[in-house]
Amino acid sequence: MSLVLVVEDEQHLAEGLRFNLEAEGYQVQLVETGEAALALLLSDAQAFDVVILDVMLPGKDGFTVISELRRAGKFVPTLMLTARGHPEDVLQGFAAGVDDYLTKPFDLSILIARLRGLLRRHEWMRASLNHENAVAAPPKPKDTFIFGDKSVHFDLLELHVRDQTFPLTMMEANVLRFLIEHEGKPVSRKTMLEEVWGLHEDTDTRAIDNFIVRLRRYIEDDPTRPRHLLTVRGIGYRFVASPAKAE
Ligand code: CA
Repeated sequence: MSLVLVVEDEQHLAEGLRFNLEAEGYQVQLVETGEAALALLLSDAQAFDVVILDVMLPGKDGFTVISELRRAGKFVPTLMLTARGHPEDVLQGFAAGVDDYLTKPFDLSILIARLRGLLRRHEWMRASLNHENAVAAPPKPKDTFIFGDKSVHFDLLELHVRDQTFPLTMMEANVLRFLIEHEGKPVSRKTMLEEVWGLHEDTDTRAIDNFIVRLRRYIEDDPTRPRHLLTVRGIGYRFVASPAKAE
């Protein structure tokens, strides 16, 4: 049975969520503050299968909670529940490290579907981790992209750079995958926003730049002089797998 941590200060909504999620066969734990959520998740993130995180909370807000969690290396799947549906808010959430979001008011069936999606991904990651440890297991198809001394393991949500491993959020992986799929070609911020995030509204597409900054920190030897994740002035970005030595 999957254990869901619900971080929500509005009691009505929290109890409603508990009732409905339990009816769907989930176990639910409720907390009302970001601090309480962090205390639980930092001590044992493994205990929870998925987190539903409200943004507007007393004390630490949802953005702070998720960024502290990710900074501490805890990658429990997290869905942000927000009354603020502006693309800038959504992007801020993704930049802070959430895996998915839903705006309030929301449809319960949609919430359940989103949770199932996150849990499926989580199970799949766990299965592939166990798989690697099993000696007699048949080879599994790898969803890996290798460039130079770096490799992106999309199935594990990991980026390996020489002997270092960086965990990726799903959105970081999706951004990277999209750029890799268009290797060598400039990709506009607007296209990324539409194709990766499914956002079609006019918005400050520079919010995407935060993702690139983070990915550069992992990938580039010198993030101030990128060789793989290049800026295409006035347009967006271009991924180059094997930059020429002289560049
Ligand atoms: Ca709230």
